[in-house]
Amino acid sequence: MFRDSFFELWQRLMGPSCVPVVRVNLTPGVSTTLIEVFEREYRELRPRAPIPALDVRFRRFTSLNTTIRLREGKLHVRLSDLLEHAPESVHQAIAHILLAKLYRKPIARTHSDRYRRYVSSEPVARQAEHIRQTRGRKVILSAKGHHYDLDEVFESLNMRFFHGLLGRPTLTWSAHHARRMLGHYDAAHNTIMVSRVFDRADTPRCAIEYLLYHEMLHLKHPVRVKAGRRCVHSKAFQAEERLFPELDEAKAYLKRL
Ligand SMILES: [Zn+2]
Repeated sequence: MFRDSFFELWQRLMGPSCVPVVRVNLTPGVSTTLIEVFEREYRELRPRAPIPALDVRFRRFTSLNTTIRLREGKLHVRLSDLLEHAPESVHQAIAHILLAKLYRKPIARTHSDRYRRYVSSEPVARQAEHIRQTRGRKVILSAKGHHYDLDEVFESLNMRFFHGLLGRPTLTWSAHHARRMLGHYDAAHNTIMVSRVFDRADTPRCAIEYLLYHEMLHLKHPVRVKAGRRCVHSKAFQAEERLFPELDEAKAYLKRL
């Protein structure tokens, strides 16, 4: 799933004819070409200053953290391992942003845009959320919230729309109050996660129902690959989604959030 999204992303950024560069890691967690990327960006930003020694490593962060520190003449860069498989153009953008920040130089828009586009793209945001959940200190998987019980909502939707035929996956409220990831079906773990922001007395039931109904349609309509493209929301998926009676009301509520 992650490899698929990686190539998809790559193609979106670089055009379909590009083939990803395969990086060779000599020491675990240290990428030699990443050091070259940083050296190149350093040269661009500071053409005359000697390039300091560089130590660039990926770390298991719980978020998309990147840090840069200059200590005793050596640059220490730590990147979230979420960024390890990012295209080189994104690594270049990160190198530019970190070095420009450190040396108080203006950050080029093309780089900040490229980085932002990458981390906010659906597959990356999804993975970040997943990692936040699984690596966070407290991972409580629970369908029972303070106000809504996802198992109960699932069963009522199952009867109303699917003749009770859908097998119930693991249902859980997210550990955090994620606003970007409202709902998510993880096929690998057969789990539907709904953001905890909705577990409130003033959330209309139709909003939760719609979120869950959408994810249930993912259960019913698995992702298909057509002519090399992943089809996530097929025509059949979309047609069935329109059968939800309070669709407009629910969507309007989610938009206001
Ligand atoms: Zn969807």
